[in-house]
Amino acid sequence: METYINQNLLNNLFYILSSIFIYYFIYDHGKRWNMSRRHKQWLLVVCTGFPLLLCMKFPIYIADDCVHDLRQIPFLIGTLYGGWFVGGMLLLILLAVRFMFYGFQFVTVAVYATMFIVAALASPAFHRLNRSGKLFMSVWLTFFVAILTTFVAIAVSDFQVIDSYIVDFILIPPVGMLFVVYITETLKEAIMMRSKLVKVEKMEIVSQLAASISHEVRNPLTVVKGFIQLMKSQQISKETQEHYIHIALEEINRAETIINDYLTFAKPATNKMEPLMVHLELQMVIHMLQPLARMNGIQLVESLESGIITGNAQHFRQCFVNLIKNSIEAMPNGGMLTISSLVRGNDVVITVKDTGVGMTSEQINRFGEPYFSTKEKGTGLGAMVAVKLIETMHGTWNIQSEKHKGTVITVTFPLAK
Ligand code: ADP
Ligand code: MG
Repeated sequence: METYINQNLLNNLFYILSSIFIYYFIYDHGKRWNMSRRHKQWLLVVCTGFPLLLCMKFPIYIADDCVHDLRQIPFLIGTLYGGWFVGGMLLLILLAVRFMFYGFQFVTVAVYATMFIVAALASPAFHRLNRSGKLFMSVWLTFFVAILTTFVAIAVSDFQVIDSYIVDFILIPPVGMLFVVYITETLKEAIMMRSKLVKVEKMEIVSQLAASISHEVRNPLTVVKGFIQLMKSQQISKETQEHYIHIALEEINRAETIINDYLTFAKPATNKMEPLMVHLELQMVIHMLQPLARMNGIQLVESLESGIITGNAQHFRQCFVNLIKNSIEAMPNGGMLTISSLVRGNDVVITVKDTGVGMTSEQINRFGEPYFSTKEKGTGLGAMVAVKLIETMHGTWNIQSEKHKGTVITVTFPLAK
């Protein structure tokens, strides 16, 4: 029993599981560096190659013709998730380390080359499966390759199948794979869920804005319609006619701008970081939310100083749409909304100030917490998305609020170098 299940077995599992956490930690935080496909593959090579090496360095049991450890788990995980490239690199690492630590053996090459080919061939199918499909496939595939490679080993050498080999090489790895794939998929889902939340909130805003925007577009259309009817029904001078056409065109332009602003926002966002002119971006957001403010009888004051920061235009706009929309919603009976930007030292300081309902200190503390909302139809996601986006653009934020007086939100971004 000592030889099958001992401290080394647990250590092997520990190396593998911690590497997966490290992989997802870097993957999650690496989004802001825009990792390419190749970078991710290299990350996977490192994060599966390292436990592979550790498992081999501290094996469970050393028999005469075979070293027992859980190396096939990181090897199979890397190959299934990363395909030919990652699998190939892992095979090189595995063979090099094996021969360095325990000397050359042809049977090792035959066993792991077989394992590599089977797993790499299965990799595309593996990627198409859902979570439970992946769990199922990884367990059976591990079991199948263990059996297959045992026959390979027997065929190419006078390999002896012993008890501890059956336990360490054939029975434990499928169970280990089940754990590892389960944890991998859970972490992946958690990361994906977060980026989905951003989209859900955006759709919410898009549909809410649609109402006020269609209202705003209808006005110019009514004016244009009126002038065209006038021109049709009356005998009018050339001069008046031109005047009418001029007004009609202006109204059409206005409608066009509104639609354009709206569409820019509704377009899917990229992750591109670029120089942003703060005052232009804010003007665009204000332009877009003006109809909503006007419908609520809110007076809008803007004092915008120009400054250039590095960020993503879509994210910047979405962030301030969320904050300003909250301010507008905090003033159901009208009020004053002040939006300003000014350059202070190496920073741009943007403030959104309203004279609305304000917040209690408990509400201030919970600001940015997902699903925290005091509104009947609130999503409680707007502030969270805004806060997340500010952080990804290396900004900081501060909130001051007093019940029945109003709220001031200050966002500071470093100026671009
Ligand atoms: P939602 O707007 O859907 O309620 P948010 O995440 O945008 O969700 O806002 C969370 C909560 O924070 C709001 O329900 C509100 O109570 C509070 N809040 C945010 N901004 C303001 C503000 N400018 N004035 C008063 N309360 C605010
Ligand atoms: Mg909101």
